[in-house]
Amino acid sequence: MVLDNLGSSLRGSLDKLRGKSRIDEEDVQEIVREIQRSLLSADVEVDLVMELSDNIKNRALEEEPPGGTSARDHVLKIVYEEMVDLVGESTDIPLEPQTIMLAGLQGSGKTTTAAKMAWWFSKKGLRPAVIQTDTFRPGAYDQAKQMCEKAEVEFYGDPDESDPVKIAREGMEATSDAEVHIVDTAGRHALEADLIDEIEEIEGAVTPDLSLLVLDAAIGKGAKAQAREFEDSIGIGGVVITKLDGTAKGGGALTAVKETGSSISFLGTGETVQDIERFEPNGFISRLLGMGDLQQLAERVERAMEETQAEDDDWDPEDIMKGSFTLKDMQKQMEAMNKMGPLDQVMDMIPGMGGGMMDQLPDDAMDVTQDRMRSFDVIMDSMTDEELENPRIVGAERVRRIARGSGQEEDVVRELLQQHKMMERTLKQFQGMGDGDMQRMMKKLQN
Ligand code: GDP
Repeated sequence: MVLDNLGSSLRGSLDKLRGKSRIDEEDVQEIVREIQRSLLSADVEVDLVMELSDNIKNRALEEEPPGGTSARDHVLKIVYEEMVDLVGESTDIPLEPQTIMLAGLQGSGKTTTAAKMAWWFSKKGLRPAVIQTDTFRPGAYDQAKQMCEKAEVEFYGDPDESDPVKIAREGMEATSDAEVHIVDTAGRHALEADLIDEIEEIEGAVTPDLSLLVLDAAIGKGAKAQAREFEDSIGIGGVVITKLDGTAKGGGALTAVKETGSSISFLGTGETVQDIERFEPNGFISRLLGMGDLQQLAERVERAMEETQAEDDDWDPEDIMKGSFTLKDMQKQMEAMNKMGPLDQVMDMIPGMGGGMMDQLPDDAMDVTQDRMRSFDVIMDSMTDEELENPRIVGAERVRRIARGSGQEEDVVRELLQQHKMMERTLKQFQGMGDGDMQRMMKKLQN
């Protein structure tokens, strides 16, 4: 993730402020230095970094902390606000019929983003179509088609046609029933005059409501010239940053945002169609600073729960909160967890679990957990309905049979039963809680 080490280094210097009611110039200098180091190594432009650090310095020394606020919380709040300011608002993307054109260099992630965005719009209840006009890159057609099939969204392309403008025009007609048109364009290895001519012609043919520049998070200083060129030819309304799941830096994309006077719209966080997030400045910076991002997590949980529920009408997650917690519930929960994405990404979003905490786990701890979940799933498939509904009846004899049937060790079957008991106990505690208790617990988690 972008600026990965900022959260932990900043927390280190902020922790030194614990117990202090006032901060002095030296404290502020140290914090600002951490931020500068982090931002510069993430390729954020020097001017931007200087502006940000001056603002933080001035505010931290001049503003009075509101009564009862510790020096640490006061500085953290200022850093947070200034960082949110630096990344800017999210591009406004109304949930209504529109045409969006994607531009960018080859390999930046345009084709992938087109399918992801179509998936995103379809989840929002709009009917999308992807129009693939990239006739330059061999394989672009097949790749787009396959991804759109996975996303279950309409796709238009023509592998036998070499004129991208013609494809764009025909594609708009062929998909006229769709509400949101996402037009993917060809990239090149570098900015070339013919690429700019081509994209201007496509723009003329599809008249997009919004053109987004797709940038690989690893892009460094090159972002500036690229952003300027695209801005001058078609006008950039927003920037998509892809590959944020890698060891990318992301600072170059911020430069592009400033250069085009636009904003960040979406983030790409993986190779599958679901790996897309709307850019949310508050949540993004909270996560970066290790404050967790409850809202994103809540949205992902909700989506996964809805999908799991849609597949099985009999199952309602709310039942868990009311009554008993069976192995069937546990299996559903695991399915939902799987849909949310890799466990470590999910954990990263939980306050107090992000950043540093995950680093302390052994490297393979998360893999083991996911492997275990797969074994549990196979085991549960080998159990009878009666056993799933009432795991208490599973004695030694049944454990042997289930282990044999699922090809798993008996120990793993016992571990599953143990795990279920533990979850059941935890849930019982939740059930006994009033709303007030719940809120208090959430607050505690956040601090
Ligand atoms: P295009 O040439 O701009 O259309 O780029 P593609 O969509 O073909 O993407 C180039 C490569 O980057 C492909 O291998 C994609 O799978 C990969 N890619 C795109 N977006 C992401 C992302 O958010 N995360 C990761 N890990 N890979 C991505």
